[in-house]
Amino acid sequence: MASVNDHQYLEHEFYVALLAVQRASILTKSVFHNHAKGTLNKSDASPVTIGDFGAQALIISALQHNFPDDEIVAEEEAKDLRGEKGQEVRETVWNLVRQTRLENAEYEGILGGSVKSADAMLDLIDKGDSQGGGKGRIWAIDPIDGTKGFLRGGQYAVCLALIIDGDVKVGVLGCPNLPISDSEPLTEGIGKDASDEEGKFGVVFAAKEGDGAVSCPLSKRGDLKMDEINMNPLENVADATFCESVEAGHSSQGDAAAIAKKLGITKPSVRMDSQAKYGSIARGAGDLYLRLPVRADYVEKIWDHAAGELIVREAGGMVTDIEGNRLNFKLGRTLKENKGVIAAPKNLHGKVIEAVKDVLGAKQ
Ligand code: AMP
Ligand code: MG
Repeated sequence: MASVNDHQYLEHEFYVALLAVQRASILTKSVFHNHAKGTLNKSDASPVTIGDFGAQALIISALQHNFPDDEIVAEEEAKDLRGEKGQEVRETVWNLVRQTRLENAEYEGILGGSVKSADAMLDLIDKGDSQGGGKGRIWAIDPIDGTKGFLRGGQYAVCLALIIDGDVKVGVLGCPNLPISDSEPLTEGIGKDASDEEGKFGVVFAAKEGDGAVSCPLSKRGDLKMDEINMNPLENVADATFCESVEAGHSSQGDAAAIAKKLGITKPSVRMDSQAKYGSIARGAGDLYLRLPVRADYVEKIWDHAAGELIVREAGGMVTDIEGNRLNFKLGRTLKENKGVIAAPKNLHGKVIEAVKDVLGAKQ
């Protein structure tokens, strides 16, 4: 068992986050299997599913019950679910939200039980509109990170992090389609045709600052059987397995290949959607995560990185932007001072950044 249990500090936050992510993952799994995935189009044209809305409502409900004064930065808003136009999707989401609970009543009680009504659900979703910043307690939520993977039947993650005065203190990632076993090697096919078969797939990664990182099988009851995880102790960067986005529009796959070549890496990249990449390197299934800007004007969102950043750091890694600077979570809803993300074991991170600078510098 990991040492996470030994510390009182933020212990309640840690457990609530773990349980809330487990409950929300039950909902996303049910959408993954049983529902037409009700895709709407947001102004940025990214697909939003009923799973996003439902998972966000359930997580915020648990946070409001336990920490009513905390701020919340969440990806979605309820606008498209309101009024006559939103009725159909609203009813689908509400049916899911009111049916989803942890099977263990004690754990469900810790989360505050069910949401009271469809209207209450919409208001909960809209509680995620904080502007963020460098002061106070702020939860960051991405209810379904990797929506495109989710719709394609690939990897996705339910993401929750607590940021205090700009530092990530608690991070939890629910990955329903990743293998439970930490020792399962990453295959090239892991991002495609995913399965969430009970007993084989479905894992939660979690970390509390200073206490290490853990993995835990996703459980319908909410049980927490935690095992400590660590990055692979790799001596030679040429032996690394690196992860990148499936979506070529999110991370430059050409630049990643050039950087890998420069580092002497011969293994093919593992492409998967979502912060499942952070979890996979944190448990040593992969080694590096390269996210290389495709467009100079794109700013990363805090909910896409907060949980994963802490989990990798607590597992012995280092997470920076392409310049080698730490990610700055103090600046609102986005990481406006950072470009891209490079995550690697501490001993190899400097070498990777050198190669990143060589390759990206040569392009200018
Ligand atoms: P991934 O699954 O790692 O490819 O990342 C998914 C996330 O990429 C989504 O949650 C979006 O917020 C984010 N995203 C959208 N457009 C871009 C872009 N042009 N560059 C980088 N990330 C993006
Ligand atoms: Mg996301």
